[in-house]
Amino acid sequence: MSEPTTRREMLGRTVRVAGLLGLGGTAAYLTQKAGRADVWQIDPTRCLDSKLGVTNVEVCQTCATTCVLPLSAVRAVNDFAKCGRCYICPGYYDIMSEVDEEGLPSQKLCPRDAIERKPIGEIDPDDPANNFYEYIIDEDLCNGCGKCVMGCKEPAGLGSICLEVRHDLCLDCNRCSIAANCPQQAYFRAPAGAAVALREKR
Ligand code: SF4
Ligand code: SF4
Ligand code: SF4
Repeated sequence: MSEPTTRREMLGRTVRVAGLLGLGGTAAYLTQKAGRADVWQIDPTRCLDSKLGVTNVEVCQTCATTCVLPLSAVRAVNDFAKCGRCYICPGYYDIMSEVDEEGLPSQKLCPRDAIERKPIGEIDPDDPANNFYEYIIDEDLCNGCGKCVMGCKEPAGLGSICLEVRHDLCLDCNRCSIAANCPQQAYFRAPAGAAVALREKR
């Protein structure tokens, strides 16, 4: 006949079972997280700031203001394959501002001065409109406010600037607060690169 189980033994067994269940749960969660290939992305064909045909509206700054990170995980990205290297880029300049002595708009569009305008090759001062410039976004300064995206959109620009969730910065929240607040339902989860593929179709 077996000995009756003491209270101490019962407690010990319960604690071990609970520990195993806890470990199992954590392991299952980690396995699930590691295997999860989908990431938060922005559909540029839905985002108000890059959506073609939407003009004369206030820029949507939800990406800049609702991310849980102090500096949003969203950044503007210039697609150099599409960029026209324009003399007067409507994503760089506030084209509604007064013209200065050089014939250029006097104000920049970016509130954080995050875009550099770099001349390409020799500049011909006698034919300024035929000079080309590279527009480089400083990712450490950009907060994804979308102003340059809206400015570069066709027909004023060539639509080469879009907003992107930076996956090296994003915390991959289960419930992305930007997705919950996006007025265009432009956030989706898919394998990385799906948004880029959508952008290329535009
Ligand atoms: S919240 Fe949505 S519509 Fe607004 S900028 Fe971000 S992706 Fe675009
Ligand atoms: S998204 Fe806003 S902060 Fe970033 S480069 Fe464009 S205008 Fe500047
Ligand atoms: S998932 Fe979280 S960290 Fe990533 S963009 Fe959304 S709110 Fe920001």
